[in-house]
Amino acid sequence: MAPAKITSPQDPALAELCAELTQLAPKIDVSGHWPTEQLELCGQYGVYEWFLEPQWGGQDWDSEAAVAGYLAMAGACVTTTFILTQRTGACRRIASSTNRALQDLLLPNLAQGNLFATVGISHLTTSRQHLARPVLRAEPVAGGFRLDGFSPWVTGAAHAQYVVTGATVMHADKPTEEQLLVALPTRLPGVSIPEPAQLIGLTASHTGEVRIDGVFVANEWVLAGPVPQVMAQGIGAGTGGYQTSAVAIGLAHSAIGLIQREASRRAALDVPLEALQNEYRQLYDLLFAVVRGETGCSGEQLRQQANSLALRSTQAALATAKGTGYLQGHPAGRWCREALFFLVWSCPQPVVAANLCELAGIAE
Ligand SMILES: Cc1cc2nc3c(=O)[nH]c(=O)nc-3n(C[C@H](O)[C@H](O)[C@H](O)COP(=O)(O)OP(=O)(O)OC[C@H]3O[C@@H](n4cnc5c(N)ncnc54)[C@H](O)[C@@H]3O)c2cc1C
Repeated sequence: MAPAKITSPQDPALAELCAELTQLAPKIDVSGHWPTEQLELCGQYGVYEWFLEPQWGGQDWDSEAAVAGYLAMAGACVTTTFILTQRTGACRRIASSTNRALQDLLLPNLAQGNLFATVGISHLTTSRQHLARPVLRAEPVAGGFRLDGFSPWVTGAAHAQYVVTGATVMHADKPTEEQLLVALPTRLPGVSIPEPAQLIGLTASHTGEVRIDGVFVANEWVLAGPVPQVMAQGIGAGTGGYQTSAVAIGLAHSAIGLIQREASRRAALDVPLEALQNEYRQLYDLLFAVVRGETGCSGEQLRQQANSLALRSTQAALATAKGTGYLQGHPAGRWCREALFFLVWSCPQPVVAANLCELAGIAE
């Protein structure tokens, strides 16, 4: 029998899904296999519906509910939750485009989990920004654009029918200010997806390059642009938002849970446990205050604190589990590797700078 759809973060079916994801998490960490079963479960439990409006078959959860969902799922399986954020990033950009025909074609199928779409936009935001020549270029041609180059980081690319990606419009082989956002069908001639990268964590996310060699992309696939700074406005905005912090805080919660279980028979853990629990509670409250717009704390300040707690709490869990935690298959070691991801994932420069200062032991 198909499981009940999760209709709110308080729905007991969410705890049921998380229990299943928790059980499956060690397997994909060791094998590096794409989490097919986990993503199918997400579809059955209606997770993909949370992020889309009813007109597309979605439940349109508000930001607070969506963040609560991400928090719970990240505590169960960071890899699955991370893939979900990238899929949702693609859905969100398709949903906020003005390309109605493309929305009709893709969004109902994305809400039901019949399609998988992902994003490859970091080369317009946090990756390859120091290079003079854009890594993905678009040349206007009759009926559309010819794209050339590559998108360096695309999660689940080989499993996606569509990659939401951006390219810089070229004029006389020189980059212009204008950029374009498209839903690139991965079946188009000239699109190729090499073997995904071997990562130090989240290898099962099958993240890697998408190569785009002289690909004709018809106007029908354009989501936005050409406009200057397509990622800084409307459809593009919202990279590295509080969802990223929610995933980091969800991971910290699992790590602190391990210390709590051990503390019931090891009094020496009480003091660090209490400190981490207090910090977790404060950060949890801050996360929702940021989501509700009730605080002056910026998304970047929240992210820096979330990164810090994820790194410290997972290492505290490893120290608690001792050598046993250093064995392959133990969650503490996996969590430590997963926490490192937050130092590099969708990390705006001020967050990188703040994390580096903390690591260097200096106040900013
Ligand atoms: C596992 C994983 C999954 C990801 N998934 C996605 C995804 O699905 N979609 C997506 O859009 N993005 C994704 N990203 C991208 C991510 O959000 C960041 O954009 C990415 O981590 C930035 O790293 P980079 O090495 O490309 O940065 P870059 O800034 O390009 O740095 C690359 C190298 O260039 C050099 N360098 C950096 N800055 C300078 C400088 N100022 N001057 C000279 N040299 C410099 C350094 O040697 C550095 O190692 C993912 C990243 C990872 C690691």
